[in-house]
Amino acid sequence: MPNTTTTLRAVQNLRPRSRAGVAIAAGLCASVAVTGASLAAGDGGGESPKVFAPTAATQLADATGAQADAQRAAGEKAVDLEKSWVAPIEEDYALTATYGNSGDRWASSHSGQDFAVDVGTPVNAAHSGTVVKAGGNGAGDGPAYGNAIVIKHDDNTYTQYAHLSEVGVEVGEEVSTNDEIGLSGNSGNSSGPHLHFEIRTSADFGSAIDPVQFLGKQNVKL
Ligand SMILES: [Zn+2]
Repeated sequence: MPNTTTTLRAVQNLRPRSRAGVAIAAGLCASVAVTGASLAAGDGGGESPKVFAPTAATQLADATGAQADAQRAAGEKAVDLEKSWVAPIEEDYALTATYGNSGDRWASSHSGQDFAVDVGTPVNAAHSGTVVKAGGNGAGDGPAYGNAIVIKHDDNTYTQYAHLSEVGVEVGEEVSTNDEIGLSGNSGNSSGPHLHFEIRTSADFGSAIDPVQFLGKQNVKL
């Protein structure tokens, strides 16, 4: 059994610089206090546990502060996520046809960014908003898009998600950033499983802007 005074000093010397470390040290210190108490009870003498209590209390208070900080940070993270933009696919993907590219999938200039993923991969709302189009026939934009969704965002931009195997939302539904809205697929004019993703300035086909550039401005790196 180590000398408790030495152990306490060792703990104090370990007094950490990081918040996470504080919680660990507080835990250690609480153990020391218990050890002190049991020693005091066992030998009928030795160090009084009262010696340890103030330090333990201070460090536990620090730890409580750290916990409050962590909760505040988690809250801020949730708020940040709501305000922020994310990629429409969270799982691994390969970027294939890019915006403006007249690749093999489209006769004219490509209006979005393609994410090559297996059929059935969750597709998420890139930003919070309201679903304004959802369903087959490109949700009204034409059969080339297959099953599609269009979401209107508070900054008056729109996101479109196409070639889906499953549409999981309805027109009028409110979605939050990163909510799953459907599953990727190969519907419509698609030469292989992928998500076709557009940023639009209106709900309709023909108003697309470069989605990679747009997301880049929102600090989303694809
Ligand atoms: Zn595409």
